[in-house]
Amino acid sequence: MLGYNMGPSHPLKPRRLEMTRELLNSYGLMNTVLEPLEPPDMKQEELLLTHSPAYLQALQQLETGQGIAHPLKFGLGTSDNPLFEGIYSTSHAYASGSAAAAQCLLEGAQLAFNIAGGLHHAHYGRAAGFCILNDCAVAIRRLRRRFEKVAYIDIDVHHGDGVQELFYNDPHVFTLSLHESGKTLFPGTGFPQETGEGAGMFCSANLCFAPSTTDRIWLNAWREAALPLVAAFEPDAIVLQMGTDTHALDPLGHLMLSTRPWLQAIADVQQLGKPLVAIGGGGYNLCTVTRMWTLAVAQLTGVELPNDVPVQCSISSETPRLRDAASFTVETAREESAERFAQDCVKTLKERLFPHYGLAL
Ligand SMILES: [Zn+2]
Repeated sequence: MLGYNMGPSHPLKPRRLEMTRELLNSYGLMNTVLEPLEPPDMKQEELLLTHSPAYLQALQQLETGQGIAHPLKFGLGTSDNPLFEGIYSTSHAYASGSAAAAQCLLEGAQLAFNIAGGLHHAHYGRAAGFCILNDCAVAIRRLRRRFEKVAYIDIDVHHGDGVQELFYNDPHVFTLSLHESGKTLFPGTGFPQETGEGAGMFCSANLCFAPSTTDRIWLNAWREAALPLVAAFEPDAIVLQMGTDTHALDPLGHLMLSTRPWLQAIADVQQLGKPLVAIGGGGYNLCTVTRMWTLAVAQLTGVELPNDVPVQCSISSETPRLRDAASFTVETAREESAERFAQDCVKTLKERLFPHYGLAL
């Protein structure tokens, strides 16, 4: 997984995985509350449920150093998705990790992590937004072997477009994404009007936010419109994508969140009491990613961690405290504008989906 490396100038750094493991280890969570597993390689036929044969063949050719005629046709060879050595095998390892996490639930576990996963932008036949293979979709499909209804919850700052698209017609999979609006951020989709189609009508939900959205605005919208919908869908299992790029210090997104509402949303998902696969996602400030994933793991495993990062951890000088001390603040006018934007989205989403689930507006 550490070989999924798009180059020194690319924002997605595999180092964040090493740092997270180091911080979890420093807090004594590895091999105690967390049981590390070596995921077995998933079979090609399982991957073919999520990706096109032509796309997988192109990736395999690139893996072995053969060129392909039109990499751009597959979204490859761009600045976002450059070609790199091991492009297929490392992507395959991410997907195998999420499949293995789902497998744990099939075998009776209540909770499994693939913190490297969460590559939610990959499409059926092409790469997008740093994502080559859609491990989120792979986990959902594996869960569907046993669980009738699966909810996918995505709190990354970007819209979970690849996952939504792959299950847009599927009444057994509810996809929910909270993200910065497509008007100001990649991938440009994920508006509250997108609610599924065909048999999957009413099974996609999107809440989007304006730049400068603060903790209070985001958490209110989550609790008013998003959480009730997931609960009303009554999923038998949940995949939770925990992108950390919602944070104010993230260099890609423009939301102004601290660790607090993000972690509260994770606690709320946990309160639903369903078997849960928790996967990573975006996050481009290495210290923020590391802190937030460690907090998420502690929350979900019911461990209370001291706020001081253990001094033996090499990142303790950069990240002395685990939690943000307070919410970030923005100018009043900007916050009021972001609040109006969020309230409009909440209203649209509720009008479109609440009646279907018997929820009061
Ligand atoms: Zn993201």
